[in-house]
Amino acid sequence: MKLSSKVFSRYFLTTLSIIFSISLVGTLSAGGSTSSLGAIVENGVIFPIIEDTELGKIVTTPCNTEIIHNGGEFLETVDVLLDPGHGGPETGSVGANGLVERDLNLIVALLVEKELLSLGYTVALTRRTDLHMPIRQRTAIANSLSPKAFVSIHHNGGAQRRSDVPGTETFHQINSSESKRLAGLLFEEIFESFNNFWVPWVNTVHNGASSRLSEPGRDAYGILRNTPNVPTAIAEAAYLSNPPEAQVLIMPEVQQVEAEAIARAIHRFISTTDPGSGFKPSFIDGVMTGTGSARGCIDSKHGEDLRITVAYSNEEFESLISAAKKAGMSIEELQLFGVHALDLFLQLDSDVTSSEEKISPPTVSGSNVSNVSWPAESQPALVRVARAYGFSFSEVQKLGATLMVFLTSLE
Ligand SMILES: [Zn+2]
Repeated sequence: MKLSSKVFSRYFLTTLSIIFSISLVGTLSAGGSTSSLGAIVENGVIFPIIEDTELGKIVTTPCNTEIIHNGGEFLETVDVLLDPGHGGPETGSVGANGLVERDLNLIVALLVEKELLSLGYTVALTRRTDLHMPIRQRTAIANSLSPKAFVSIHHNGGAQRRSDVPGTETFHQINSSESKRLAGLLFEEIFESFNNFWVPWVNTVHNGASSRLSEPGRDAYGILRNTPNVPTAIAEAAYLSNPPEAQVLIMPEVQQVEAEAIARAIHRFISTTDPGSGFKPSFIDGVMTGTGSARGCIDSKHGEDLRITVAYSNEEFESLISAAKKAGMSIEELQLFGVHALDLFLQLDSDVTSSEEKISPPTVSGSNVSNVSWPAESQPALVRVARAYGFSFSEVQKLGATLMVFLTSLE
């Protein structure tokens, strides 16, 4: 199992610090895959497929961590994807009556789903429960399912200016006329429905359908920016932060009125060429609230562990033990870590296998047996390296060990 030292020393200095700073199971974030591969649905949770390999489906969890997941039901596409904004520790705005945006968004989204289903559309929600979910995951779901319309449902906070009409705001993708039409129809339907109520509304100058940009041509909202091939819009129906509006928004009848308005807008978007209304010029305001990142997101357990067994000769095993000692890891951890390092090399330079001489697979037999239990979040690395080298999982595990023996011997 000869490894070209040239291959690895070339990257050694620049990557070793990265390797040792990522956690043992840390993975690189999902790449910007634009093809829609569908998703796996299990217990109402959608796992978008990032890569569909013969060795396993690489999907992302609600916290946007890549895992291998071959269970669940396959969902190829839907007509409409609804995104109840926020969730978990990200509450969004909070009404004076205690109504939390995170919960209201989900209530309304579920009512919209019901309306759309009765119109004959297929519908999915990015989340069906109170779940912490970064923006990247919401957009990964949209990109995997390629819906005809993707609507993120929110209720606003912040405005103080008294208004005689609802302060409804919708936002569209700056470079998509279809997204603009979707936002215009959402504005038209929601605004007109709420305008039937007499409420001391509040609004801002952004009342209407517009694009919020971080710089010219660049959408400030990740939900719009990360879905360039999906007509996407954000609906901020009214101001939950305004106490009189919170009193209205907590009423089930009003939630139903709002849901019907959103469903009508989506139905008109798909079945007509109506342009919508309420358009305002785009504006530049890159100051965001800072929510929607994966920081602090904790997943439930998803996917199955995989047990892989490899054997080592006495000489190999001694090297492995001393390398593990040097690295401050168990020999099982060292084998896992080595495969993550190999995966990182491959991602940094995808030419590693093509430009260099092919590596012959290591011998996985011997008298010293080592079992490694691979959690679902470590399996994508195993799959990618196995595919790149054309090795079995056992061979990859041993290759990882060889790499770590090599790296720890360099000093
Ligand atoms: Zn919100």
